Amino acid sequence: MLDTVITGGNAVLPTGAVAADIGIAGDKIAAIGAPGQLAGLAGRTIDASGQIVIPGGIDPHVHCRWPMPTPGQTQHNLTDGPDRVSQAALFGGTTTMLDFALVDGDNTVQQAIERRQKEWASDCYCDYGFHVMVQGALEHTVPDQIAEAVQGGHASVKMFTTDITPSRKGRMVPFGSIWEVLKSLAKSGGIAAIHAEDNDIVMHMYDKLTREGRTGFENMAEVHNTLSEDLAFNRVIRLAANIEGSALYMLHTSAATGVRAIATARGNGTPIYGETLHQYLMYTAEDYKKPNGQIYHTYPSLKYAEDHAALWGGTNHGAIQCVATDEICCPLKYKLQGNRIDDTTGGNAGVEPRVSLIYTETVEKRGYDLTQFVNLVSTNASKILGLYPRKGVLAVGSDADIVLLDTRQRHTVRAADMHEADYSPWEDRDLACWPSLTMLRGKVMVESGSLKGALSDGTFLSRKVADEVRSRPAV
Ligand SMILES: [Zn+2]
Repeated sequence: MLDTVITGGNAVLPTGAVAADIGIAGDKIAAIGAPGQLAGLAGRTIDASGQIVIPGGIDPHVHCRWPMPTPGQTQHNLTDGPDRVSQAALFGGTTTMLDFALVDGDNTVQQAIERRQKEWASDCYCDYGFHVMVQGALEHTVPDQIAEAVQGGHASVKMFTTDITPSRKGRMVPFGSIWEVLKSLAKSGGIAAIHAEDNDIVMHMYDKLTREGRTGFENMAEVHNTLSEDLAFNRVIRLAANIEGSALYMLHTSAATGVRAIATARGNGTPIYGETLHQYLMYTAEDYKKPNGQIYHTYPSLKYAEDHAALWGGTNHGAIQCVATDEICCPLKYKLQGNRIDDTTGGNAGVEPRVSLIYTETVEKRGYDLTQFVNLVSTNASKILGLYPRKGVLAVGSDADIVLLDTRQRHTVRAADMHEADYSPWEDRDLACWPSLTMLRGKVMVESGSLKGALSDGTFLSRKVADEVRSRPAV
């Protein structure tokens, strides 16, 4: 017996988009049939005529309730919590978010995870998981703790190869420690998520631009530059190439050099995957010069036209698998409080428009097929980061995380109409679709613009990366 049937839609199945009915029993997809085949078999029928039916979006990179370095203050403001961000996610068709569990102070990896899980329990409308984040010089016991975490379902570990700005000392993980963590991940079945910038080049450029009096944030692309991405990506890739079973997920790829490094390594059979951010696909360093240009910034930085072109090429040719937000949900006044190369806040409010924006930019503007679009906003993240086939796919046995994308009328982005920050970097953008319904594990969470779910609906997701994903560029 089915609880719900979604009928009449154009469903994006693993084999391609096709007219199909989807039957849901409990929290799972229980049947997929030809149009009309499941009619009358369920208590509720949802008419998806004229709409595209996709698996719920997965945003693999968000930061909820996260400290934002604040110029001149030791007490940092926090970004909005999962309660707010997950609501925005569901309105926009995203049903799963991956945030971070930061290992700081004297905490062990396990303690850091437990603390984060406590914070999120009953405070998130959608499903969620955490990348473990380690920073600074690591105690020699950390790689073993990481192996234990991977076995406990925390399949990815984030590390920085840079302090990012001179005032954020302590982020960078020394290369020897990265080596040890990669070895531990290779053995335990995890994947490394790397923020890769060459710290020497970045800090050199901070010194140089400060000396030259060019400290405005509009110069950010000169500091967090394409050479830095080239050197850091390739250095990490060479390190991983020396460790059997080492797999890499390159966070927020921003430059043509990064795309090339990933493409070359994939050509050599390296299991490496590229993430970029929606703002890197839609803006360049020229946009820093607009009024309130900080709203387009995320570290490393927006780059130039050729980088923009290479990132788009990567989404179409395999070097870039995922489009994330690097969500930092905060009021505009916080986003604007830094205006120098060394104090401008990174991250962006964008989890809500992400799916529809990427649909518009890929399917409508660039002629991508619906499968490519769904791969970029959902399926690939699921596969690479260990949620597949539970998430990211319309298939029998998968969680019934389902979104109806309505393409029958256009939608204009307005921060005032959305559920995250009081600004949007995409204000006034014309979108080709907007979700009319978002379902999480069989429960309708958002329908016709109203929230139906509860904060207790989101659950923590245990993740395990498939051996295939860790042994070759399988996605
Ligand atoms: Zn981030």
